[in-house]
Amino acid sequence: MQALDGNAIAGSLAEVFGADMTMAVGRCVHCATRSMIAELAVYPRVPGPVARCRTCGNVVMVVIEFHGGVEVRMDGFELERPPATV
Ligand SMILES: [Zn+2]
Repeated sequence: MQALDGNAIAGSLAEVFGADMTMAVGRCVHCATRSMIAELAVYPRVPGPVARCRTCGNVVMVVIEFHGGVEVRMDGFELERPPATV
């Protein structure tokens, strides 16, 4: 499957965090690689896309889209810097 980049989930993240998160920097909890959300490898999936670390391939973020809302699980990704407010 062709991987997209973090921009593919920018809309969902903006909905949850109220800010553009693509430039937010975080760290993969598995391999400690720092990257911007825009740099993650995003795989479209049902019910929502998952973002993987490009270095170790572990899932760092899961986007769950449900009727009327969206939820983001960021268990594998430690945000280092809060996003700039829009
Ligand atoms: Zn990693």
